[in-house]
Amino acid sequence: MPVLTYKYRLFPNSTQAVALTDMLGSFCDLYNACLQQRIEAYRRQGRTLSYIDQASELKAVRLIDERLASYSYSAEQQVVRRLDKAFRAFFGRVRTGKGGFPRFRAKSMFDSADFRVGDGLTIRKSRKFGIVGIPGEIKVRWHRDLPAGAAAAVLSRSCGKWHICFFVETPDAHGPDPVRAAGGIDVGLTSLIATSDGDAVPTPQWVRMASTKQRRLQRALGRCRRGSKGRLKAKMRLARHSARTANQRRDFAHKLSRTLVNLYSHIAFEDLNITGLASGMLAKSVLNAAWGQLISFTDYKAANAGGLVAKVDPRGTSQECDCCGMVTPKYRPGESPIRELNNRIQDCPGCGTVEDRDVHAAKVIKHRAFPWLKGPGAGPGASSQPVAA
Ligand SMILES: [Zn+2]
Repeated sequence: MPVLTYKYRLFPNSTQAVALTDMLGSFCDLYNACLQQRIEAYRRQGRTLSYIDQASELKAVRLIDERLASYSYSAEQQVVRRLDKAFRAFFGRVRTGKGGFPRFRAKSMFDSADFRVGDGLTIRKSRKFGIVGIPGEIKVRWHRDLPAGAAAAVLSRSCGKWHICFFVETPDAHGPDPVRAAGGIDVGLTSLIATSDGDAVPTPQWVRMASTKQRRLQRALGRCRRGSKGRLKAKMRLARHSARTANQRRDFAHKLSRTLVNLYSHIAFEDLNITGLASGMLAKSVLNAAWGQLISFTDYKAANAGGLVAKVDPRGTSQECDCCGMVTPKYRPGESPIRELNNRIQDCPGCGTVEDRDVHAAKVIKHRAFPWLKGPGAGPGASSQPVAA
């Protein structure tokens, strides 16, 4: 069953904020203590402790540790489980030879806690939250309705702001409906995306802003003396900037994916995993994250709406002609690579088609994913489409 996340901002008063910070601190101590215990059990007895071993001890520990006893038992179990996950991931990595041993965590970096809804965390009649061990009720901004059936929630702290995420299981989509409208999407550097119908979405301002400002803040951080106050401030500035960019990106991806899903039932993207992550150019790495998020948001929104997102092999999408299938090499003889970069027009020597290159690539992508839609008169109605696998 697909799981949807619903995130809300919390507004604890100053007493509650201190209490929440204390709680995360206690959970961090618990995490580190469990890690210590695992290390010692292995050193002294060659034993590898499991989640069950440590969780069954938790009850006894709570009897003597007042601080732990004042917080939610199930939330503390989740802390133990989190360490167990870290170990499982570590053992998994050992096999590939890239093992990093789970580390002790700093309180300043221990930013979240997992809860069972209705156990350690309850939604009160007042529509505020009650969290075991935190005084009073915590205000929350319900910017959208939370569907019934949320069993798990994560409380998190980021740049001094508190949020809560609920995880809601949604029934399986019934599989894609017949094609209502299909579209191909090409992602690029000049336009963020281009559709097979000729629409282009310009690259948002924040992409460039994000990378230039990030570079500046990173440089400033690099100049600060280690352990100095200025370094801490520079670090906060960089963290706030990253968080802000991530928010802008998510907001943008949600809105654009919604537009695409309203426009098309069947949507084809390039499979970015095949392209490989761009490295080096910072703006490109910002864009890469944006595309990845856009595709995954479109994917689940389309599935919920009875549509489908297909990913195709991206190789050569910009060299192939959609009309006659002719493949034009990247550089024609005698053409300089600089001209190639500025050459935004697909100009096919085979059939003479002239079109914007990105839009044309989007058409190629569309027809790679839905080949039965190709050819004259192949509209949504004229389908002899195969049954979707
Ligand atoms: Zn052609």
